[in-house]
Amino acid sequence: MNPPLTHQEILRWLRETDAARLAELWRRADETRRRHVGDAVHLRGVVELSNYCARQCAYCGLRAGNLQLARYRMLASEILQAARQAVKFGYGTVVLQSGEDQGLTSAWLADIIRQIKRETTLAVTLSLGERPLRELAAWRAAGADRYLLRFETSDRHLFDEIHPPMGKRKSDRIALLRQLQDLGYEVGSGIMVGLPGQTYASVADDIALFRELDLDLIGLAPFIPHPGTPLGSGFQIFPPVNGEQVPNHEQMVYKAIALTRLVRPDANIPVTTALATINRKNGRELGWQRGANLFMPNLTPLKYRRLYEIYPAKACIAEPDVNCLGCLNLRVQEIGRHLGQGPGGRWSRDLPPAQP
Ligand code: SAH
Repeated sequence: MNPPLTHQEILRWLRETDAARLAELWRRADETRRRHVGDAVHLRGVVELSNYCARQCAYCGLRAGNLQLARYRMLASEILQAARQAVKFGYGTVVLQSGEDQGLTSAWLADIIRQIKRETTLAVTLSLGERPLRELAAWRAAGADRYLLRFETSDRHLFDEIHPPMGKRKSDRIALLRQLQDLGYEVGSGIMVGLPGQTYASVADDIALFRELDLDLIGLAPFIPHPGTPLGSGFQIFPPVNGEQVPNHEQMVYKAIALTRLVRPDANIPVTTALATINRKNGRELGWQRGANLFMPNLTPLKYRRLYEIYPAKACIAEPDVNCLGCLNLRVQEIGRHLGQGPGGRWSRDLPPAQP
């Protein structure tokens, strides 16, 4: 057993460039992953149910200010159909994700959640942004099991710059994660790596924070600039002093994945679609070999998929869903792993499914 990593050590690893030393980090992360969560790569199917968004996040292509984007909201029948696909593919979990869509009402979604829970044994994860507590409670009561909300960066100053408040109150995603846990949700979170203005020290803080929050899932995505957003069109935020800016390169994401595995040995860590986008060839495999144990295939109907443009040139926007399963199966087998069955993660072990 290695002693827990200190903040200083996390920081040193984030700055490490020596290939042999990094090989040691990958080896330790892979070994920790194998020992604590095994060899299965779990799949959670994502349905991007709406790209309407009321917010003005400086990083995201769905921001209300991006007038170039055609907007859609899936019909309830289409969402249920996608959930049935998840069952057919053996996914175990369906993740319902969207922009912060004010046209998405509490009762409408509660009804969809109840229907999915009635018809299937899927775990239902929601990822709908910062919604009022009463709605989060209503969806939990309707049977939703998990909620996914990245805190994006623990640097308060940077977060406020890139995530403008809706009303007068600044958002506090970390407080919201705790409230979600109090409601009985299993909670996932994560960050973007390489945001303009993000320092090595702040990513080390993020990873240290993962240790404190009791998270089921921790997602680490490279920041990918979108030309229809302030951060993708040259808008500069607090340029950090020389050498402190974290790059949004693949290598940095692997380091963040590996270190997150070392501080949270039993967490579910996906290879994010953003990582698969910046290295389509083998970003997934390298992620799974450096600490990750999950992937979230896209279940959104093809006609909507290209409109869920959080960042440009997203991987897997043209592949029919069936190919997706075949492709993932091959990829995991090539690295000596296998696809997981059922809901995956701790949900199946110690939390009873919510009663609809
Ligand atoms: N509206 C919801 C969910 C949709 S966005 C929410 O805000 O939680 C899902 C995630 O995509 C965000 O949490 C963010 O981490 C990521 N994302 C947004 N823009 C991105 C970009 N330009 N590059 C990489 N990831 C991005």
